[in-house]
Amino acid sequence: MKDAKIVAKTHANHSSEIAIAPSTTIGGKSLFIIGGPCSIESMPQMETIAQTLLKAPVQGLRGGIYKPRTSPYAFQGLGDVGLDILSAIRQRYSLPVITEVMAIHQIEKLMPHADVLQVGSRNMQNFDLLKALGEVDKPVLLKRGLAATITEFVMAAEYIASHGNSNIILCERGIRSFDSYTRNVLDLGAVAALKQITHLPVLVDPSHATGKRELVAPLARAAVAVGADGLIIECHPDPERSISDARQTLSLEAMTELIESLRPLAQAVGRSIPDAALAPAGPSA
Ligand code: PEP
Ligand code: MN
Repeated sequence: MKDAKIVAKTHANHSSEIAIAPSTTIGGKSLFIIGGPCSIESMPQMETIAQTLLKAPVQGLRGGIYKPRTSPYAFQGLGDVGLDILSAIRQRYSLPVITEVMAIHQIEKLMPHADVLQVGSRNMQNFDLLKALGEVDKPVLLKRGLAATITEFVMAAEYIASHGNSNIILCERGIRSFDSYTRNVLDLGAVAALKQITHLPVLVDPSHATGKRELVAPLARAAVAVGADGLIIECHPDPERSISDARQTLSLEAMTELIESLRPLAQAVGRSIPDAALAPAGPSA
């Protein structure tokens, strides 16, 4: 991987901590756990999620507003209305937010309202989008393409870095294989490999990797054990009624329990999970 000029690790202790918001980083000793719905659906939905997850605690909120759906007839996200909701929740709860950018023209719109821009699996090799994200001053969460090799994944990150933005967080979210029992196959070997090849933080998304809520917690625990820097997990106040990805979505109670169960594991691998008391304060007024 001789062309991984910027993202490659140059020595054993070379690892980058990416600043997400004032006093919040990804890639340090503390794990970064992101929770939230597949899609932003309404203000009450996001209020309930933010209030509950602040106490879980999570360090970031996710929520799609521009959605890459397999069918053009499926819900495509709330679009600009969703952006208003995301922005209000971000201000009210002081939690960093992450949302997907599907096209270059959405970057400018998202810039003032998102703390991290997500490049979805289907866009991992949208090179024009990667180049454009290289020119902005905003961390990018780059998800692995559904059939991308580790080299292709690392080189996609290099595209962003080579255009000026090295605030990149990698995310393993499962790859296609022959077995349809799970939605994808979570490649934990890739997580260990990426931590050895690059200095970038690596998150794991056990929701899209498995497609089944009952498999999310065990794989989240495995991800922490293998050295992931954090997790991104879909959860919802009424998971069965999620407009998208209901089958893989956790309840807020299950999410809270999962985070608690990760504490001893995190400690065993020299990591930590912030206490709820240390999480950003709740609604300002
Ligand atoms: C998502 O995070 O909602 C999503 C669509 O993920 P992926 O791009 O990994 O399929
Ligand atoms: Mn989803």
